[in-house]
Amino acid sequence: MKNPGRNGAISPERAMELRLRMVREQIERRGIGAPAILAALREVPREAFVESGFEEEAYEDGPLPIGSGQTISQPYIVALMLEAAELERGNCVLEIGTGSGYSAAVLSRIVRQVFTIERHEQLLETARRRLEDLHYGNISYRTGDGTLGWPEAAPFDAILVTAGAPEPPASLERQLAFGGRLVIPVGPSDFQQRLRRITRINETEYDEEDLGAVAFVPLIGVEGWGE
Ligand code: SAM
Repeated sequence: MKNPGRNGAISPERAMELRLRMVREQIERRGIGAPAILAALREVPREAFVESGFEEEAYEDGPLPIGSGQTISQPYIVALMLEAAELERGNCVLEIGTGSGYSAAVLSRIVRQVFTIERHEQLLETARRRLEDLHYGNISYRTGDGTLGWPEAAPFDAILVTAGAPEPPASLERQLAFGGRLVIPVGPSDFQQRLRRITRINETEYDEEDLGAVAFVPLIGVEGWGE
């Protein structure tokens, strides 16, 4: 919905200026330097993924509401998760929590194929329309419970979960390729988690690393939190 107190639509030149500043001041300055991630963040028009009237705010250093009680993540957190996933060009990646579609868009500029799942049908359809309008063709979409993954498309080189879980879902761990990385916020309550990277070593073994404190909306599903 249009908010009369906000700045409204912005020109492509202004958006590019804000985007380059965002990458310089919020991402590079905090130590993220992977060229593929920086290039993708400089390319994707983040203003296209927020509600009309919030285009300038899209480049601020924080999350923003996107409807259905959900948020588009802070740019730095998107970059941090992408870096943690140790992505390579040929990778096939599953994202849980499509939300606005922004992180799927950035992912699609870095890897070969993206699969994204969102439990809110309306958010998924809005995101799909935006991503199709931008001609990002290497993304597949599903509405449903992402805690169960996307078994027909597995194994994945990386799985990114953009909502906080009580424990890492076993279904997602099992859908990793050997050497694959699951990047997921895990914690005892909403908005209070540790970002974890779980790397699948072989059929039964996983390595686990703690990447620091984060605050995400809850992951709701059979292998997540209850409704
Ligand atoms: N990646 C998003 C973006 O770029 O805008 C941000 C996602 S938002 C922080 C988290 C999303 O996870 C919400 O849209 C929420 O509805 C979704 N979600 C929560 N539990 C889910 C589940 N079990 N399966 C799929 N999506 C889920």
